[in-house]
Amino acid sequence: MTVQIEEKIKIAVIGTGPGGLAAIIHLLRLPFVQLSAFDQATELREVGAGISINQNTWRHLNLLGAADAIEQVSLRGDGSKVDHEQRNGLTGELIAQSFQKVETDAPPRSRIERYRLQNALLGQVPKDFIQLSKKLSKIEEFPQGTQLTFQDGTSAGPFDLIIGADGIRSAVRQHAFPDHKLTYTGKVAYRVIIPQAEVAHITGIPQAATFWHTKDTHVYTDPLDNGLFEIATRASEPEEDIKKVSWGQRVKREQVQRHYDNYCETIKQVIAAPDEWLEFAMFGGPRLESVISNGHIALLGDASHPLSGAFGSGAAFAFEDAYVLAQALLYTRKKGETVSEAIKFYDEVRSPHYKGLYQILNSFADNAKELEAIKPPLEENELINERTKRNWTAENKWIYEYDVTKVWKKYVDAIDASNILAKLTLKAEKESAIPGIAVSA
Ligand SMILES: Cc1cc2nc3c(=O)[nH]c(=O)nc-3n(C[C@H](O)[C@H](O)[C@H](O)COP(=O)(O)OP(=O)(O)OC[C@H]3O[C@@H](n4cnc5c(N)ncnc54)[C@H](O)[C@@H]3O)c2cc1C
Repeated sequence: MTVQIEEKIKIAVIGTGPGGLAAIIHLLRLPFVQLSAFDQATELREVGAGISINQNTWRHLNLLGAADAIEQVSLRGDGSKVDHEQRNGLTGELIAQSFQKVETDAPPRSRIERYRLQNALLGQVPKDFIQLSKKLSKIEEFPQGTQLTFQDGTSAGPFDLIIGADGIRSAVRQHAFPDHKLTYTGKVAYRVIIPQAEVAHITGIPQAATFWHTKDTHVYTDPLDNGLFEIATRASEPEEDIKKVSWGQRVKREQVQRHYDNYCETIKQVIAAPDEWLEFAMFGGPRLESVISNGHIALLGDASHPLSGAFGSGAAFAFEDAYVLAQALLYTRKKGETVSEAIKFYDEVRSPHYKGLYQILNSFADNAKELEAIKPPLEENELINERTKRNWTAENKWIYEYDVTKVWKKYVDAIDASNILAKLTLKAEKESAIPGIAVSA
């Protein structure tokens, strides 16, 4: 008797931010995958900023086995705590407010330091599994597989599938979609986390995640669960004042303060509290119609959708991508189908989701245009309040509640159902071709 040994699928993950790590964790569970992972970093560490853990993020942290490590630093609430506030940054006026939701299957939304998220994910990856100091510089696609070359002169391959999880400036995206261009959005983000004690003397700081809006900028304040205080801002900065790749650059207090001197007293004092900030120039790019290429390259996380931090949920989007990609590989393997078919399914499930997100961004821009076109022009505070109300409607809540596990199930159920129907039709056609057997309508 001959035993047929099915070959393993050779997969390379490029980039090990939240998206790449999630892909690694899911793919290491698939016995038919031979996995390699590369990152350009000499060591894996995160710059000191916060990240929101929403309902959909918790769902995936549970699936990834990383929720427990994070839950230790976030508090379960009883539903009475204010979760989010939207305020007018000039006057401090409250525009909208939402209360913490009590989940039965997950802790409430929380905000943690990014390195905690990374450590929780890394805890699920075997030590030394990720090959560091491997900056991808070239991709070559051959019939026998894809070959990778790194900046240090080494190479790896051939691979059956390349997963580009290499962030907003993705080299994999650049290779697969050379015409796709990132542009500077005209905005910078200033971010910092300081001890709560440093802002304890300031009156008027809500005990909730709060956005303080003006016409062109905003400030986000958030007392974190573990005695820390996060401040994250957006400001307009002309292109000529921004070094092309300024990401996580340290800047002095005065550099930040000049953008917010028209804000209410609470925010002026909050902005004055830290000595130093980190500055991030925000780049973004158009939506890709498809995030796969040539049947053996798939983009994931920020590499697939350079949303520039909009929605504050990029890590969750990347987790959703990683889940669907692994499920698609598993499903197609069981059916004896190809990698190319797997990533097609991945694209069919994820691309419409990103289309929906980009549509929301377009609606924000439309809201701003509409309100600015009103004659006689709205007074500044009216404009801020009205725009904030329109942008922060409950209609966008689905983003944070979105359950991709259900979406995937529905998708494969539909494929299975259509396959059964196709088989029945074929059977009926064959039977009707046999003389004497009639097929009833
Ligand atoms: C200002 C701002 C605020 C944000 N706030 C939030 C938030 O509150 N909540 C949230 O969920 N998300 C937030 N995000 C988004 C979130 O940071 C990203 O969506 C998330 O980090 C995406 O993860 P990723 O794995 O796709 O990419 P990244 O985290 O960017 O990881 C990419 C990895 O690829 C590696 N890499 C890059 N190029 C190469 C190469 N050529 N070769 C090898 N390796 C390479 C990098 O070293 C890095 O490790 C924010 C983003 C911004 C900009």
